[in-house]
Amino acid sequence: MTSTPRRTSGALRDYHMEEGAFLFNFEEKSWTDPMRGHTENKEMCAPLFLELKSESLTKNRQAWRTMERKGFKVTKDVGCMLPHPQYGKSKTQKGNGMNGGGHKTSMGFFTGFIGNRQDAPEKDKDGRPINLQVSHLCHRSSCINPIHLIAEPQWQNQKRNTCGKNNSGCNCGNTIECLRMYQTSNKPENPVLCTTKKEVLESLKELKELHPFKVLKRNAYNEKDSKAAKKRKIKAENQKKRKRQADKQAHAAGKKAAKKAVDDQAAKKSYENAVMKHLSPEHV
Ligand SMILES: [Zn+2]
Ligand SMILES: [Zn+2]
Repeated sequence: MTSTPRRTSGALRDYHMEEGAFLFNFEEKSWTDPMRGHTENKEMCAPLFLELKSESLTKNRQAWRTMERKGFKVTKDVGCMLPHPQYGKSKTQKGNGMNGGGHKTSMGFFTGFIGNRQDAPEKDKDGRPINLQVSHLCHRSSCINPIHLIAEPQWQNQKRNTCGKNNSGCNCGNTIECLRMYQTSNKPENPVLCTTKKEVLESLKELKELHPFKVLKRNAYNEKDSKAAKKRKIKAENQKKRKRQADKQAHAAGKKAAKKAVDDQAAKKSYENAVMKHLSPEHV
């Protein structure tokens, strides 16, 4: 049985880098306050955080590193960091949906915030929905730049969806201002990207002060990639070897069984039976 080989993370990274992505490595440091967006409902909002040393924290960290290793494109306008499209929330140019979730992984990695506690009230006394949501101040739903993300009550997030018509600046009334005019994420856009490390560092100056990172060399993961490729090759060869051995045994068993049979037809049948028996269920 042959199957299309799975695209390796190295291949995904190469593709993304050809599209203009840079490789980053962010330092892990103590979490900052992700709640700067909830001031108007401070008492009622009930954020849920990853617990220190928990399995879910480890998983979230791994998810971040996996995404990080595929690189980020950096936009020149406000310094959005765009992960490989598989982590984005918006649709591709061809209209395909994405796995998404990159911004949530980022929120977990940089702030520990993962959602609302079970006992969180849904509405405030005025009936406004106060479930905490991760808002994009840049209105680019695939952006994972942690300083473009805040956790704020739903009603505040919703207000952003009308912000800054005609590029008149943030006028949605939120205390923490949007970085760009609101745009729908259904519309594909082609933002101008940083093309040099210098431009990247310039665009992400503010972020670097809050969350230190390194921009890695383009070949930073080559060694890791070739090791992984070698491992995959050995695994495939071993599988083949095992399959050949199993086939050989099956035929030998079939022949033996056939010898015992009285006439040709019975021999053929018992041969087939023996082969089937030997191959199933693992090999059919
Ligand atoms: Zn952004
Ligand atoms: Zn706004």
